[in-house]
Amino acid sequence: MNKEKRSLDILIINSPLFRDKVDGYDEDSLPPLGLGYIATNLLNNGMTVELLDAVEENVPIGTLLAIIRQKCPRYVALNIFTTNLHLVREIVESINGGVRFIIGGLATKNLYRTIMRWNTSCPVDIVIGEGDFVVSAIVQKNPLDIISQDGNKRVITVSMSSPYFPQNISNIPLDRSFFVNQPLRHVSGFNEVSIVTSRGCMYNCAFCSAARSLNKETPVRERNAKSVANEVAMICEIYQNVDSVRVLDDLFLRNTQSIERAVRMFEHVPVTWRAMAHVLSFYKLSDAHLLKLKRSGCKEVFIGIESGSSRILRMIHKTSDVDLVKRTIKRLFRAGIDVKGYFIFGFEGETVEDMQMSYDLAVWLKEASIKNGANFRTSVFQFRPYHGTKLYRDMILKGRIIDEVVHHKELSAEIGRKQFNFTSGNFSEVSDENLREFIIKTNGINR
Ligand code: SF4
Repeated sequence: MNKEKRSLDILIINSPLFRDKVDGYDEDSLPPLGLGYIATNLLNNGMTVELLDAVEENVPIGTLLAIIRQKCPRYVALNIFTTNLHLVREIVESINGGVRFIIGGLATKNLYRTIMRWNTSCPVDIVIGEGDFVVSAIVQKNPLDIISQDGNKRVITVSMSSPYFPQNISNIPLDRSFFVNQPLRHVSGFNEVSIVTSRGCMYNCAFCSAARSLNKETPVRERNAKSVANEVAMICEIYQNVDSVRVLDDLFLRNTQSIERAVRMFEHVPVTWRAMAHVLSFYKLSDAHLLKLKRSGCKEVFIGIESGSSRILRMIHKTSDVDLVKRTIKRLFRAGIDVKGYFIFGFEGETVEDMQMSYDLAVWLKEASIKNGANFRTSVFQFRPYHGTKLYRDMILKGRIIDEVVHHKELSAEIGRKQFNFTSGNFSEVSDENLREFIIKTNGINR
C-alpha cells in the first residue's frame, strides 16, 4: 500500500451485510448514529475522518477493499455483528499491511476470542464497550485499558471506570453531515430524521444481545429532556423538510416515567415521532395519558411482540399474557397511535401450533386496528441465535449446530427487505417450507 499518499487518519465503515452488490437494492437503512458519534469525536480532536455507509450505499466487499487500498488511511474502523462476522473477517484478512484495524460493536464482547484467531497481517484492535471516545484515544496513542494481547492483536475495554466511558450522554456532539441518508424519505411519504436519547435496555429477552443480564456492567443512561428537545429543534432548523423524528433507542418507552419524559421532549416541536416501546410500558397508563402521548406527536410505536404463544413468550422472557398484549395494543389504536409489531418465527422447538397462534395474533391486531381507525403492520423475522445470548448459549450446551449466517434468498424473493432476511438454520419443529409460509403470510397482513 502506498503510504506516501496517506492523508486520511481514519476511515470508518458501516460494515456490509452482503458480500456482493445486491442487484436492484433500493432499501432504506437507518443511519449508523453510533459511528457518527465516533466520527464527530475524531473530527473534533483534529483528525481527518470519513464515514462510508456500506449498507446504505450497497458497497460490495471487492469495492470496499479497493477503497481502503486507494485511500490508504492510517486506521480503518468497522462494526461487527453475528450476521456479518464472516464479511468483516474477509475484509480484515484481505488487506496485506499498511493500515491498522479497529473492530467494535456490541458483539465484540462475545466474538473477540474468535477475532483473535483471524489470520491478519495488519494490526487489529478489538474494542469491547462504547466507542465514542476510545477510538480517538487509540488513534492518538493515548493510554488504553488492554485486557489481552497476542501478536498484532489487542483487546481494549471501555469499562464504567474508563476515562473513555460516556457517563453523561446528554451532550455528546453529532455531526450529521457524516450521514448520506438524512432525512430519510419514508415509503408513506414523510421525511424522517433519527436520534438516540438513551443507551441500554432494562428488559432481559433471551434472544437479544442488549438484554440486561448480558450488560450488567453498563448502566442504562438517558439524555436529559432539554438536550433532546434542543437536538430536535436543531434538526428542524437544519432539515427544513423534516416531518418526523425516529428515536432509535433500544427501548424508548419503557415505563410511565419514560412516557412522561417523551411527552416533555416532543410536545413543543412541530414534528411527529416514532419509537420502540415495550408492551408493559402502557399497562398502567390511563386513556388520558395515551391521548397526551398522541397529542405530543407520537405517530407510531414499534413493539417487539415476537410470538402469540404463551409457551414461546415465557421461553424468551417476554410478557406471556397474550390477552394483555391485545388489550394494551387495542388501547393504543383507540388513542390514534399506530403500531408496528415485530414477530420472530423459528425458535428452537417452536411447533406449528405456536406459529399459528402468532399468525392469529397478528390478524387479530390488524382487524382491531382497522375497527379503531388506526394502522397495524408487522415486521417478521426468522429466528437466528446471536452470539452470547441466552438462547445461543442454551443451544450450544445442547450440542445444536448453528450454521454460519447466510442471506435467506427465498424469503427475500417473496417479501423483499433483503437486509433483514438471514438464516443460520431452522431450529423449530416445522419444515423449512412451513416456516417460510408463516413468515410470508404474517408479513403479508400489511397488504
Ligand atoms: S426489550 Fe427489546 S432491546 Fe430490550 S432486551 Fe428485549 S428485545 Fe432487547
